[in-house]
Amino acid sequence: MSLIPFAPPRIDDEIINEVVATLRSGWITTGPRTKQFEKELSAYNGNAATLCLNSATAGLEVMLKWYGVKEGDEVILPAYTYSATANVVVHCGATPVLVDVNADDFNINVANIRKAITSKTKVIMPVDIAGYPCDYSAIMDLVNDPAIKSHFVAEGENQTTLGRIMVLSDAAHSLGAYYKGKHTGVWADATVYSFHAVKNLTTAEGGAIALNFPAPFNNEDIYKYLCIFTLHGQNKDALAKMQKGNWRYDIIEAGYKCNMTDLMAAIGLIELKRYENDTLLKRKAVCEYYANHFKNFEWAQLPPLKNDTAETSYHLYPIRIKGISEAQRDAIIQKIFDADVSVNVHFIPLAMLSFYKNRGYDIANYPVTYDNYSREISLPVFYDLSDEMLKRIVDAVTNAVASTLS
Ligand SMILES: *Cc1c(COP(=O)(O)O)cnc(C)c1O
Repeated sequence: MSLIPFAPPRIDDEIINEVVATLRSGWITTGPRTKQFEKELSAYNGNAATLCLNSATAGLEVMLKWYGVKEGDEVILPAYTYSATANVVVHCGATPVLVDVNADDFNINVANIRKAITSKTKVIMPVDIAGYPCDYSAIMDLVNDPAIKSHFVAEGENQTTLGRIMVLSDAAHSLGAYYKGKHTGVWADATVYSFHAVKNLTTAEGGAIALNFPAPFNNEDIYKYLCIFTLHGQNKDALAKMQKGNWRYDIIEAGYKCNMTDLMAAIGLIELKRYENDTLLKRKAVCEYYANHFKNFEWAQLPPLKNDTAETSYHLYPIRIKGISEAQRDAIIQKIFDADVSVNVHFIPLAMLSFYKNRGYDIANYPVTYDNYSREISLPVFYDLSDEMLKRIVDAVTNAVASTLS
């Protein structure tokens, strides 16, 4: 039997042909396909403007910089997330303030956010773990609460205009998820998606910022500024400079360089076209297969997929095993791999990683995060999973758990 992979991308002729067509077009960096992909993402999510970049990490860092986050500032984020969410805060010289998460859906706990807010708090970064949306209404109500707002210390133009803590969603997992009947992308001030190779929708590497700032901000203006900020601070992009005689440019600040290429956008355009009515349906069917199988086992704690307010993007299927230790979880994972099935753990909490441990973060302060992590196993979810593979996966998991618990 061959090893069932965890999350291979769906690379077929349609994708390959579009990439080849882009190569043949002669325009391979940021250009018409990237602009088209941005427009289609805005239409899909329902937000005003979207900027595509080479990663979600770049998008998160760019938005922190745009908001003027710097040394001495605090940014609140969940203790249970991928390191990218916290690393970008460190890059700005600011302090990541970790808060514990929910026991049911893995996401940041809003009551804990409230307790962590100080006069130094500039940004909250909720993360839609596994694709399941955070409680955005509660988070937006919190930052707009007059008692919280009155403690906000605005520095610089953008902080003064917003007049409160910015909500920057790390939606690396949640393109296509629903919260109160609308996609992620219209709830936070800015929502950042990842198109990394393992994500729901891929461009090989890539990411996007969905802009959704309230008036008096003009999201189209922010978009235009960010295009320049993410391309060296140069006031003309390569396409504009191609126009006859249009060679002269200026650098208006020392910007970043993290634009998306049209080769990436070519993949994204095909992926997005078939996302809602093909990719997501398949991923949903996979997750529902797991749910239907494992609901019969007393030891299984199933992840939330859908309820009255939210529906996941079916990015991950993070099952938890009741009452086991971290060592038992690791033993179960080894047995699953021995049965030629790839699984994963999302995520090793930040406070258990060397860099953050060395900075004084202690996992003992995040008991729910540790409990979620220690009992969690992410099962394969990808487009080309066959029924035969699904059966092998659930058998491998069931046998591994049974032999470990007995
Ligand atoms: C994948 C991921 C990121 C980073 O995405 P990139 O596009 O690789 O930069 C950020 N946050 C979370 C939660 C992720 O899973």
